[in-house]
Amino acid sequence: MKCDVLTLFPDIFTAYLNESILKKARLKNLLDVRLYNIRDFSLDPHRQVDDYPFGGGAGMVLKPEPIFKAMDFLREDGEERKVVCLTPQGRPFDQSIAESYAKEKKRFVFLCGRYEGIDERVKTLVDEEISIGDYVLTGGELPALVVIDAVTRLVPGALGDERSVQDESFSWGLFDYPHYTRPREYRNLKVPPVLVSGNHRQIDHWRRKQALIKTLKVRPDLLKKMILTERDRGILAEIETESDKDS
Ligand code: SAM
Repeated sequence: MKCDVLTLFPDIFTAYLNESILKKARLKNLLDVRLYNIRDFSLDPHRQVDDYPFGGGAGMVLKPEPIFKAMDFLREDGEERKVVCLTPQGRPFDQSIAESYAKEKKRFVFLCGRYEGIDERVKTLVDEEISIGDYVLTGGELPALVVIDAVTRLVPGALGDERSVQDESFSWGLFDYPHYTRPREYRNLKVPPVLVSGNHRQIDHWRRKQALIKTLKVRPDLLKKMILTERDRGILAEIETESDKDS
């Protein structure tokens, strides 16, 4: 994944990009992030980037000129780009968008807003508006990092073990199954015996069942969208019978 980030706070990114998987991905050239401070493109002698909203109202608005100038600068290299604006009014980000971004050949530009938002005319530069959820944050920096993180882990080679991605929540339309590690017993809390049974068929069945139970309980909407296999339908019937017995 290759991206340029337009932000007023580039330092917010550096700590996160210099740790763990993202750091390793950058070192392996699987992730290339270039940070640009929007303020560096201000035409104002005081480097001001915001102004009062026309028509009145609370807060300040990010001015169009520095962002247009920044985009002109980025486009000088002739590379094709997909411009993504982070905004609570965007398309809700999910695993399927992350998957499509991971396959994208173009360089991304992530535009991070602040204050009351960005002058609407900037939208003429934008290919897609993305929201990370139905709540309002102070700025687009955390949303941009969320997108970069979710996409990077899907880039082949970014994770140590590619199977991690295949089994994760949402990748198969369900939540992930519960994970346990050593010790087998801690403060009287035991690891489910099936996981230490060595019976891989039973382990597989148990994991699928737990993933279905958790998804059914917390996000039944995900299950409705899923195309269920015959095996899943069988496990769901099993879950229903067990819950009938319990009630
Ligand atoms: N006035 C805007 C509104 O009500 O839609 C909110 C502006 S918010 C305080 C400032 C910036 O934070 C936005 O321009 C956007 O870049 C970012 N932001 C806030 N919440 C977000 C979310 N849920 N998803 C993506 N970006 C968000």
